[in-house]
Amino acid sequence: MTTVNAYAAFSPTEPLRPTTIERRDPRPQDVVIEIRYSGICHSDIHTARGEWGGTRYPIVVGHEIAGIVTAVGSEVTRHAVGDRVGVGCMVGSCRECGPCRRGLEQYCEKGMVGTYGGVDVDGRPTAGGYSTHVVVAEDFVLRIPDALELDVAAPLLCAGITTYSPLAHWGAGPGRRVAVVGLGGLGHMAVQIAHAMGAEVTVLSQSLKKQDDGLRLGADHYHATSDPDTMRALARSFDLVVNTVSAGFDLDAYLRLLDIDGTMVQVGAPPEPVPLHLFSLIGARRSYAGSLIGGIAQTQEMLDFCARHGFGAQVEVVRADQINDAWDRVVAGDVRYRFVIDVATLA
Ligand code: NAP
Ligand code: ZN
Ligand code: ZN
Repeated sequence: MTTVNAYAAFSPTEPLRPTTIERRDPRPQDVVIEIRYSGICHSDIHTARGEWGGTRYPIVVGHEIAGIVTAVGSEVTRHAVGDRVGVGCMVGSCRECGPCRRGLEQYCEKGMVGTYGGVDVDGRPTAGGYSTHVVVAEDFVLRIPDALELDVAAPLLCAGITTYSPLAHWGAGPGRRVAVVGLGGLGHMAVQIAHAMGAEVTVLSQSLKKQDDGLRLGADHYHATSDPDTMRALARSFDLVVNTVSAGFDLDAYLRLLDIDGTMVQVGAPPEPVPLHLFSLIGARRSYAGSLIGGIAQTQEMLDFCARHGFGAQVEVVRADQINDAWDRVVAGDVRYRFVIDVATLA
């Protein structure tokens, strides 16, 4: 075991603080990664603050990891010392069930192993990327293409794949009208990816404050949902709505934006139940769906897609001692568009 520096939550209400954790010695199939950058996802905050329930403390969160391989186990074939690699929201799954065999490890019938808050191969709780090193089985480690810097690549491991997967599944592309609700970490990736896929992209944000950024990221249209005319004017305007909102919202109002046979896919995960009037679906043969991150093969496909199209995340790099402030800014909607921790400042 190796002792490494980390930042941990010790309760739902206290600020995160520095600590140390143990990383296991690599097994034959494991890769040891020196973490360089770790993205701050809103899910880290929901989890550490106990908003979804079931959090066990202390917890080291972080599932947008980019770094360099420093050692490999004897049976590792896919990665070598010095490689630029990433780890997302999963570090394991059963690898044998139907979903795992189909590359849908996130929906493993035995439950995927989360990068934090899960149960690791050695029976201890998994600990995430707010730490200097991590040890992960090689089949859950991604290659980061040379065209992507590690800081802008880190957020792709969650925000990127969580939006790429539903956009690919529901066929975003030329001739398809896609709306992205919420221009935060996930939203700004959804805009770039949907645009690169060739769709006509509309941002629906609470205000017009980030309009210039949204258009620069590739949106064709930008509207404020705080303006009551927006929702009326855009009724039945979209084939696909990707909803990234992290707090309670008016579900019926967004569903009415779908044209006949349109789908709204929920990736934002507010803790509280959201009321639904069924006529919002019935009235135009609409669908309401959900989607969880994406499988390992599709995560690699997404990284290669972003590299080919020449974009990563728009990031603001912060020091470890700024994590608590960054979290408050995420909750306040003051993020443009992903905070990324410079893990060297944890050392
Ligand atoms: P984020 O950066 O905070 O972005 C969320 C955006 O939602 C905000 O920027 C804001 O956009 C909008 N928003 C916030 N509160 C709102 C409200 N009360 N009403 C309307 N809009 C509101 O968070 P994120 O990291 O992108 O994560 C978004 C959500 O996705 C979180 O719930 C997270 O847990 C979840 N998530 C799910 C998955 C999955 O696999 N399904 C993966 C990762 C994250 P505007 O300022 O533009 O309005
Ligand atoms: Zn995440
Ligand atoms: Zn499985």
